[in-house]
Amino acid sequence: MKYPPEPFKIKVVERIERTTDEERRKIIREAGYNVFNIAADKIYIDLLTDSGTSAMSDNQWAGMMHGDESYAGSRNYYHFESAIKDIYGFDHVIPTHQGRVAENLLFSTICNDESVIPNNTHFDTTRANVEYNGALALDLVVDEGRDPSIIAPFKGNMDIKKLQNTLDKYGADRIPLCMITITNNSGGGQPVSMQNLRETKELLQQYDIPLYLDACRFAENAYFIKEREDGYADKSIKEIAQEMFSYADGATMSAKKDGLVNMGGFITMNDGDLAEQITNRLILIEGFPTYGGMAGRDLEAIARGLQEVLNEDYLAYRISQVRSLGEMMDEAGVPYLKPTGGHALYLNAKSFLPHIPQSQFPGQVITCALYTSAGIRAVEIGSLMFAHEDPETGETVYPDLELVRLAIPRRVYTNMQMQYVAESIIEIYKRREELRGLKIVKEAPVLRHFTARLTPVES
Ligand SMILES: *Cc1c(COP(=O)(O)O)cnc(C)c1O
Repeated sequence: MKYPPEPFKIKVVERIERTTDEERRKIIREAGYNVFNIAADKIYIDLLTDSGTSAMSDNQWAGMMHGDESYAGSRNYYHFESAIKDIYGFDHVIPTHQGRVAENLLFSTICNDESVIPNNTHFDTTRANVEYNGALALDLVVDEGRDPSIIAPFKGNMDIKKLQNTLDKYGADRIPLCMITITNNSGGGQPVSMQNLRETKELLQQYDIPLYLDACRFAENAYFIKEREDGYADKSIKEIAQEMFSYADGATMSAKKDGLVNMGGFITMNDGDLAEQITNRLILIEGFPTYGGMAGRDLEAIARGLQEVLNEDYLAYRISQVRSLGEMMDEAGVPYLKPTGGHALYLNAKSFLPHIPQSQFPGQVITCALYTSAGIRAVEIGSLMFAHEDPETGETVYPDLELVRLAIPRRVYTNMQMQYVAESIIEIYKRREELRGLKIVKEAPVLRHFTARLTPVES
């Protein structure tokens, strides 16, 4: 068996609508050639994000019925707390309604205008929370992590030399903590090795700087360690995860990823004084410390999801579903970011559509073609998202990479649906020369990609 089949059977199904080509051409035009403006009911396969889109199990749904909605001390909180302590191993657990609130609480408590936060690569909400609190966010991923053509096992690793230089340059007093994101979401979902976590910890320890993990995809990271790093093949995913966390002093988590739920998060750490300060702030902005912005039933679903995500059959299926999509691209010569990471396929739009300049949004052109020809929703991560005017010269600065991300929701789509996705991409690739660029007709001053309206350029 080349790929492991789904380790589950389907008990409940959700109908998805198939629209006609003609309907989709009208829908994309009315949406201003921006897939964010399309009603989800008009999407056949939605690969916009893997965040909050997981399918819960029968066991999680059953847990929802065990929800205890007491304001204080709900039984589900205790289950949530013990599930997290069992895997992460830290002394304090603080629930939040999603990951960015955990980041907000952490950085608003520890940062000042002088602070510097190193990370392999800050996720965008993490960077925003660091910068909003006056601090400097530095991305110190290894060089190979920035090169889409290099195939290497751990492209999410922290560059220890760059970290040492950062310590020398700014001084330990200005660095309240260092973060590592597992897997490295903004770098393509690439994993971080155990050795790298250990070496980062050893260096930070000399300066008494705590290490926090941005742990949204910790189980996917653990699976890659088991597969790729010497000495871990015979360890369980849970043992690997426990060792990963043993090198850290705390973690922030969006349970919308490896928590296998649709909403939720937490922050967990050993430092009792910090936990107390954060808890006081939590009561102000989220809720009482035993629910932190979630219902009791949601806490229960996370407690159960965190146990399920450690299942090796699940992870083997999960990682290989993403990998097989990449291998189907290889067979047809479709350019993408290699190797595939844990949660998404990233098409390389510059090589896919060399005849369309970045000023005409090649990534967005592919995104629109995927919707129009197959009802698939992906997301552009390129010029539409990142191109900006240089404040001094007034010239437009384009990002190095022009990508289209197809993020795979957990346990939602079958391998046959993934094959449909692959065939749809290949069909577009074969007729790529017919595709024409786009231009913006309306845009917002910030985060324009969410609401911008575009139109095809005249050929
Ligand atoms: C999703 C994500 C976050 C933010 O979590 P939300 O639940 O969306 O607020 C932070 N870091 C990483 C790496 C993420 O993938």
